[in-house]
Amino acid sequence: MELMQRITEPVLGFEVDLFDFNEAMIFVHQHLKENKGLHIVTINPEMISLGNKNNEFGRILNEADLSIPDGVGIKLALRIKGIKQENIPGIEFSKKLISLCALEGYTIGLVGAKEEVVQQAAANLRKEFENLNITYIHNGYFDENQEETVKEEIKNLAPRVVFVALGAPKQEIFISQLKEQMRHTIFVGVGGSFDVWSGKVKRAPEIYQKLGLEWLYRAIKEPARFKRIFPALPLFLIRVIMETVHESWVKIR
Ligand code: UDP
Repeated sequence: MELMQRITEPVLGFEVDLFDFNEAMIFVHQHLKENKGLHIVTINPEMISLGNKNNEFGRILNEADLSIPDGVGIKLALRIKGIKQENIPGIEFSKKLISLCALEGYTIGLVGAKEEVVQQAAANLRKEFENLNITYIHNGYFDENQEETVKEEIKNLAPRVVFVALGAPKQEIFISQLKEQMRHTIFVGVGGSFDVWSGKVKRAPEIYQKLGLEWLYRAIKEPARFKRIFPALPLFLIRVIMETVHESWVKIR
């Protein structure tokens, strides 16, 4: 089978994939069928800003095999560059991937979030997808020694798809260390998704989702998040505008 080729656009030095939701799912499905591994990142402005500051994280982002544009920040950045891109919420993409695994019999692993959260998320997923085979579950609060044990366990059990919910950049660093030794595994960093699947955290009402303002809703609900996102998002967009102007000047000259 000929694998689909990625089509990407750099945003402040990081390649973002331009697939729509279905194309991205087909891309991942092809890798599942061909027994190939992937590191899937659901990229957002905060991650790009961090990637620009932290070389190690930047390298990991650039070595990812699929960077899904997650959220209105990336969608706007691409719009500034003249590209119309569908927003692909990582949480929805991951849910769809889980339903595909249930349907076709691929095993999955869940790593991250608090113990009761990851257990409840697993129970809810098993209820929702009858044939889902979750072969590994671990919470996301471990010290360095325990982390080595968790990695060994994942390597031994080798679920076909591993969802890692440690937040960025922790989850990407965790995945980058494992994927070297697990070339046939699909890894997805899923941030706070287990909190939502467990029922502990609610997603924003649909109207916020439709308007691309889910981040605003979450920021209002969690003031600490507001401080993290608020200066970052406008600054990010200003930098994208500057980059775009610079690029068109270079082209003209
Ligand atoms: N988390 C974890 N271990 C840690 C830090 C965080 O398992 O050491 C979990 C946390 O419980 C939550 C998720 O990682 O479920 C991070 O969620 P958040 O919404 O902050 O991530 P984001 O999507 O903003 O990157």
